[in-house]
Amino acid sequence: MREEEVLRRTWAEIDLDALAWNYHAARRRIGPEVRYLGVVKADAYGHGAVQISRKLEELGCDYLAVSSLDEARELREGGITGPVLILGHTPPEMTAQLLRWNITQTVSALAKAEAYSEAAQAAGGTLRVHIKVDTGMSRLGFLVRDGHFTDGVQAIARACALPNLEPEGIFTHFSCSDSDTPSDRDYTTEQFRVFTAVLDALAQGGRRFPLRHCANSGALARYPETFLDMVRPGIALYGGDRDAEAMGMRPVMTLKSCVSTIKILDPGTEISYGRTCRTEGRRRVGVLPIGYADGLFRGLSNRMSFWTEAGPAPILGRICMDMTMADLSDLPEVRVGSAVEVFGTHQRADTLAEMLDTIPYELVCAVSKRVPRLYLEGGQVKERSLRIMA
Ligand SMILES: *Cc1c(COP(=O)(O)O)cnc(C)c1O
Repeated sequence: MREEEVLRRTWAEIDLDALAWNYHAARRRIGPEVRYLGVVKADAYGHGAVQISRKLEELGCDYLAVSSLDEARELREGGITGPVLILGHTPPEMTAQLLRWNITQTVSALAKAEAYSEAAQAAGGTLRVHIKVDTGMSRLGFLVRDGHFTDGVQAIARACALPNLEPEGIFTHFSCSDSDTPSDRDYTTEQFRVFTAVLDALAQGGRRFPLRHCANSGALARYPETFLDMVRPGIALYGGDRDAEAMGMRPVMTLKSCVSTIKILDPGTEISYGRTCRTEGRRRVGVLPIGYADGLFRGLSNRMSFWTEAGPAPILGRICMDMTMADLSDLPEVRVGSAVEVFGTHQRADTLAEMLDTIPYELVCAVSKRVPRLYLEGGQVKERSLRIMA
């Protein structure tokens, strides 16, 4: 497929200079001593895990994190050689693969630690692990709150003493560090207090960890006291949310489409599935080759506008699987072939996320595999990737 043909449909521009900008902004915040773990799970929030990881390594990022063994392997096969942490579960039966690919595994319970330890002994290797502590997210992790404190600390100490495990790190995850309401601030402060109490109790028993980490993007923006040895931001790196904007970061992804056809519709014409839109006057209507199968949420039907250089082009009727109609009546400059922006530099993903009562994470992750990613650096297209052709 020739590049022009790809560009005539829908594509996502990934601005690697914006990624560098965001990385440096985060670096200035955390200082030179604190390590930086870039979260590249879910195909780097839809941006392309291998390309983003390569750039992060080049920028001096210390660690990368993904959610599964498959994602970790994709990085290794893509030539990423630095440390990679799996934040989620890996079946202990796959320990040999963790060793083979030199991947760090999260350990979230004593029984898991025992299973990894046995499997690592059988495979004749030592598995690098990070202990996950549940301080209030109630997802993965050793229970340590309230009445569970003493048992939890003991279980962690026992897990760390098992043969063929190298406990390199310990971490927890905040559930509401991106919120400014007083009760959420109290909750985050309490999560951090419990985490440091666990660290202190373990240190008293002689167990210290080189990498203690807990700060996600919300904490990077609000709680410098939580940076410890390493921070772990995801969305901020991609410049996708309000916190990122407040920290001076820029959106890395811009999703674009273009006008494939223009037609003049008579007054009273009904547009798209379900006839949810009826033209009042004569309308100049553009058909755009983007739909919910590309990641344009159908819930945005009749609500959002595409951004064009001449002004906003409101969506008319329902978003279809592969196409969407937009009103170009007031935008005579927009012609067949003109590019439009769905979200990114001019129209933030936040704005659309708010219309959908969701978060910008969901919008960037939803950009589907048939949408080519164009990697831009210094204004040039450096690389192009299309998942379904790979
Ligand atoms: C996804 C994730 C992060 C990154 O969260 P952001 O809100 O995107 O900064 C950090 N830590 C863990 C454990 C995660 O699962």
